Amino acid sequence: MTPDLEQPAARWLARFEQALRAPGEAPLRALFREDSHWRDVLALTWSIRTLSGTDTLLPELQRGAARARPRNLRIDPARTPPRKVIRAGTETLEAIFTFETDAGRGNGVLRLDPEGKAWTLLTALDSIKGHEERIGKARPKGESYSRDFRGPNWLDQRRAAQRYEERDPAVLVVGGGHAGLSIAARLTQLGVDTLIVDRWPRIGDNWRRRYHALTLHNQVQVNHLPYLPFPPSFPTYIPKDKLAGWFEAYVETMELNYWAGTEFEGGGYDEDAGRWHVALRRADGTRREMRPRHVVLATGVSGIPVMPELPGLTDFRGTVLHSSQYGDGEPWRGKRALVIGTGNSGHDIAQDLHSAGAAVTLVQRNPTLITNIEPSAQLAYALYDEGPPTEDCDLVTVSVPLALLRKAHQMHTARAREIDRPLLEALERTGFKLAYGEDGTGWQFLYLNRGGGYYFNVGCSELLVEGKIGLAQFSDFDTFVADGARLRDGRLLPADLAVLATGYHGPQALVRKLFGEAIAGRVGPVWGFGEDQELRNMFRRTPQPGLWLIAGSFAQCRIYSKYLALQILADELGLLPERRAALEAGAVPG
Ligand SMILES: Cc1cc2nc3c(=O)[nH]c(=O)nc-3n(C[C@H](O)[C@H](O)[C@H](O)COP(=O)(O)OP(=O)(O)OC[C@H]3O[C@@H](n4cnc5c(N)ncnc54)[C@H](O)[C@@H]3O)c2cc1C
Repeated sequence: MTPDLEQPAARWLARFEQALRAPGEAPLRALFREDSHWRDVLALTWSIRTLSGTDTLLPELQRGAARARPRNLRIDPARTPPRKVIRAGTETLEAIFTFETDAGRGNGVLRLDPEGKAWTLLTALDSIKGHEERIGKARPKGESYSRDFRGPNWLDQRRAAQRYEERDPAVLVVGGGHAGLSIAARLTQLGVDTLIVDRWPRIGDNWRRRYHALTLHNQVQVNHLPYLPFPPSFPTYIPKDKLAGWFEAYVETMELNYWAGTEFEGGGYDEDAGRWHVALRRADGTRREMRPRHVVLATGVSGIPVMPELPGLTDFRGTVLHSSQYGDGEPWRGKRALVIGTGNSGHDIAQDLHSAGAAVTLVQRNPTLITNIEPSAQLAYALYDEGPPTEDCDLVTVSVPLALLRKAHQMHTARAREIDRPLLEALERTGFKLAYGEDGTGWQFLYLNRGGGYYFNVGCSELLVEGKIGLAQFSDFDTFVADGARLRDGRLLPADLAVLATGYHGPQALVRKLFGEAIAGRVGPVWGFGEDQELRNMFRRTPQPGLWLIAGSFAQCRIYSKYLALQILADELGLLPERRAALEAGAVPG
């Protein structure tokens, strides 16, 4: 550790701990810049929240500290030592620290300005005392099946656990993509009985059934699942079938309970019992009712397909597919296709059809952000190339408040625009309309706010520029007719296939479909940033007791599954503030 970098951070932490105990606000105020940010992830507030500006954050910090009693704040010797870094264009001293509270152990990230004042502070819960993850030295000893020659062995126990014949899980996770696997793995390590259900017949089918040439968009080091990193031999961009195979291995290795071929049909919440009653339909047609205390929706950012009523579409004699129904280009060899929508799905499907030998026209409805997959789309993940282990990068990621994240992404977007200039100018010459996201914040914020609206170019843009895939603007469309689409200038775009790559209604629509209007209304909008600078109803308590949501990238799910699992465990233990109040009042069974 470099003492001249460690000392200022260690000194600040010591003064901070004293200031938290001291009467009045002045000692604390002296430690923070006026425009500083504090993000708390469960440690002091049992919530995920960001507060900006000392007038706002100091009173909350004092309240949280009075309740959680943080202490023993010190630089964590086991983690990346304090270092000078550039964050959102500003040089800062960044230090990872550790601490404890009455309830648990935490870690955090402190960023100091050159005057030694805090610019940003993260306090995050890492574990609940007495309920630590069963890993490393705390790994299971396997006493229940070891060296008992007549009793059930490990496999017998695993099989019995997965059958759920005489019990229901505490947590039912709907969706077995990476979001579902991440939260189930975390909960299982915390000893919370968890079952994943997914409607696809085989684990990994959510990737397997996607287009033939698919490889992941982010590099392998960003995409690890919790606990079990991809082997170092894995390719930089993992192909879909390899990923699907890894999911199967992950479920097996992490001992996750997973029912494939199982549709979650929805259900309701029994307030008195503090449990759900939900219906599952198994692949053999049988139904099973369950009464879990928690339901985690891990059903993706995309909820229900948007099927717009396009003029004349019912007169069209060709095939109409939503992008979610598109499988493979082979059946369309020698045929003509219109692909409506210019996000990732639209571009990828157009390229897949073209490579299969179809004549394709891509139809643009809205200006779209285009960024080359390499290097531009990877700029946002430079942190994961700095050298520190994934765990430290994840903590640093959590520590960046929204205001700084926006600024960082504006910078990445401007840089990507420079790098991609030749392609972007060539696209504009074809008539393609470009966008750069709200306030130039780029693809990441389009994803976080809308779940789409951009394309990572893996070759389709060049096909458009070279005229190998046609381009039409939706504003030039008049109507679909039997043989294709007629443009306002009278020209016909003949087509045998129309693919509507028109996106999805967000997760709130799915909440409504599964649980009804009352619960959807109570929960409100899902995904996209709320006024509190956090993603709405994601990774934290929703207004509906027992309902949780997790979605997003591999990295987001790896990171936030930890905190979501801690909240569910805390709820099970009666530690969450409202639940504790209800328990004390005898309103909810323990
Ligand atoms: C080409 C491409 C490359 C990508 N590359 C990356 C990348 O590198 N890194 C990254 O982070 N992201 C990447 N993504 C984006 C994203 O991570 C994926 O789209 C991912 O599938 C989202 O995972 P998920 O677990 O949230 O949801 P999904 O994969 O959509 O899984 C949801 C699951 O829920 C199930 N389900 C839904 N409703 C029900 C129900 N009622 N009952 C039972 N089961 C149900 C579905 O069957 C499905 O299996 C990429 C996407 C594409 C298309």
